[in-house]
Amino acid sequence: MKKKALTVLVAGAMLTAVTAGCSSNNGDGSSSGGKSSGGESTIGVAIYKFDDTFMTGVRNAIESAASGKAKVDIVDSQNSQPTQNDKVDLFVSKKYNAMAINPVDRTAAGVIIEKAQKANIPVVFFNREPLADDMKKWDKVYYVGAKAEQSGTMEGELLVDYWKAHPEMDKNKDGVLQYIMLKGEPGHQDAELRTKFSIQAIEDAGIKVEKLAEDTAMWDRVKAQDKMATFLSAHGDKIEAVLANNDDMALGAIEALKAAGYFKDDKFLPVVGVDATAPALQALSDGTLLGTVLNDAKNQGAATLNLAVALAKGETPSKDNSGYDITDGKYVWVPYKKITKDNMDDAK
Ligand code: BGC
Ligand code: CA
Repeated sequence: MKKKALTVLVAGAMLTAVTAGCSSNNGDGSSSGGKSSGGESTIGVAIYKFDDTFMTGVRNAIESAASGKAKVDIVDSQNSQPTQNDKVDLFVSKKYNAMAINPVDRTAAGVIIEKAQKANIPVVFFNREPLADDMKKWDKVYYVGAKAEQSGTMEGELLVDYWKAHPEMDKNKDGVLQYIMLKGEPGHQDAELRTKFSIQAIEDAGIKVEKLAEDTAMWDRVKAQDKMATFLSAHGDKIEAVLANNDDMALGAIEALKAAGYFKDDKFLPVVGVDATAPALQALSDGTLLGTVLNDAKNQGAATLNLAVALAKGETPSKDNSGYDITDGKYVWVPYKKITKDNMDDAK
């Protein structure tokens, strides 16, 4: 290559580095993304899909927590891991100071961590927990979420309380709780553990259970309504409770139950969910949804943003700089809370 052409190339590259404004050249060709050199940091945020009620709450919380602290570029991965990987490549090429990723497939976190480490851009995962082995791959990897077991246990306890206070819940008087389980996306920690621990809580209370049906409705209200309609035609009056891994599916089940004549003329069926979204709180006050568990979108969003901001500044996240306790050097666990009509205001 001619010397002049080379000079132009180098000058061009330097200009790019200057306009990107958030990465410095170490002189050895390696980039030092991650540390912002004064001014506001930019954080690339990828949500698994925008069309998810709970994640919309988290997304809004990230956005409002960012105000005055950092610039956020929030993108929709459209429920496709390849699309999300492309978004991560884009964040890397834009030399953002940190990334916050809500993985589409949590087992794909390893690939994202490799990309992040190579570019030295710290990454905070949230809502979909990477496997422990992936979390150990790099020290600038964090996770913000909630203990899935806890939400399952609380959801089961809501039904235990109702069963004890309402003997008529045992419709066929056999001392066994006949139930339907609507699962979230298979493999998602919240789907697997809520399913397991909700039932375990009921059994731990000394109540026998019989599963009439279980199927995934992929966190989705419309899919849950369809599944529930099918379960109703197969099991009808035998059903004594519906457990859904999230509120959207609980609300779908309630729609199907309404169509089958429930929730009027004293025809009631206990339905429980998780999240405490706005439409779920409405259903609580209407008396259709029996109970839910607050999945604290506001604090999960704020913790994700605060950790990313600390990392973007080159700091190690701590209670002091993030406002949240860091467990095992890498995790922020936001607590769940049981919500019924009586304490609805705690979820607003
Ligand atoms: C929520 C679901 C949501 C899912 C997305 C869960 O924690 O309870 O409502 O669809 O996260 O990953
Ligand atoms: Ca029974």
